[in-house]
Amino acid sequence: MVASGSVENHFRPRLEADDVNLISNRLVRAASRDYLSRPMEKVVIIGSGPAGWTAALYTARAQLAPLVLTGKQPGGLLTTTSIVENFPGFPEGVDGYELMTRMQKQAERFGAKTSFGVVESVDFSQRPFTLIVDGEKVIAETVIIATGASHKHLGVPGEHELETKGTTYCATCDGALPAFRNQPLVVVGGGDSACEEAMYLTRFGSLVYLVHRRDSLRASKIMIERTLAHKKIIPVWDTAVTEILDVKQDKVTAVKLKNLKTGAESVLDCAGVFIAIGHVPNTDLFKGKITTDSNGFIVPHKGTMTNIPGVFVAGDCADHVYRQAITAAGAGCAAAIDAERFLAAENQ
Ligand code: NAP
Repeated sequence: MVASGSVENHFRPRLEADDVNLISNRLVRAASRDYLSRPMEKVVIIGSGPAGWTAALYTARAQLAPLVLTGKQPGGLLTTTSIVENFPGFPEGVDGYELMTRMQKQAERFGAKTSFGVVESVDFSQRPFTLIVDGEKVIAETVIIATGASHKHLGVPGEHELETKGTTYCATCDGALPAFRNQPLVVVGGGDSACEEAMYLTRFGSLVYLVHRRDSLRASKIMIERTLAHKKIIPVWDTAVTEILDVKQDKVTAVKLKNLKTGAESVLDCAGVFIAIGHVPNTDLFKGKITTDSNGFIVPHKGTMTNIPGVFVAGDCADHVYRQAITAAGAGCAAAIDAERFLAAENQ
């Protein structure tokens, strides 16, 4: 018998307790689908350098349709390199940006999905894992961390204040700016990056001072030979930059130097300071969630798997020894194979 009331009530069937439970369960499931907002990913790769794209290529070919979250700098640090001469298969060398674009295309050809997202937080406390990417939840069965590394800072007065005003960490990105043309420039560092930056800047600057805290470079022999043989490059040995001038003028005009052997201080005029003193791993996101060493590099536990089963790591965020595009790519391959086997072992 239908109770009196609105027309709506007239047509609404009476609900028993079991029906109510069924519906509320369905609502919870529907709500959780909304909450997940996208399907569960089998593999999410955080980072899009050589490690990330190689992991994407291998997991894509394993038909796991990986989702690659590119981060703020799609292609990673290599996109800021001019010419990569030591990646096998390119006898004439290859532009860093081009190499990364080719890797992306190759991974996408086999079904890798690219999202130009930045991961804001991760929850690895239970599987499936939850990542917040630009405010949206991404749920993943496995995660491959390939977040790479960032430029290290000198930490001297004026450095931060004059960033983008003559202080830079990338000659390829900024070297051709008008402010640097036919002006004296300073490169800080003694590794391959510093040599590469100095060589590149000889195209634009009147002179390039290579300021290094030791009396020899630690770069590869071929780079050392080229750098020291260049007429426009003047090494300044055993010397530290103690300040970048001039904050008051809101642009770089000079650097303050200190000879570390004699203690003598001096000022060297320049229009730009290119800092190339190494890298720090991009692992802040995982602090307290994944085992890292005292410098922040992620420590793999078994193969490429971290202390969290289902979370793998590859590339410069875990490598303070080799740090090459090719070793990062190799590690990306290994992480992909480990993730694939992990999922296979779970019969997925
Ligand atoms: P790196 O090899 O770690 O060299 C960093 C340099 O900066 C060192 O000379 C170091 O001095 C100096 N330095 C570090 N902290 C400093 C500070 N606070 N103040 C002043 N100087 C400081 O870094 P990288 O040159 O960026 O190279 C990283 C890796 O990438 C290496 O494995 C390198 O071979 C590779 N890479 C390869 C290529 C290529 O093959 N085309 C190009 C770039 C980089 P000390 O020597 O005193 O420690």
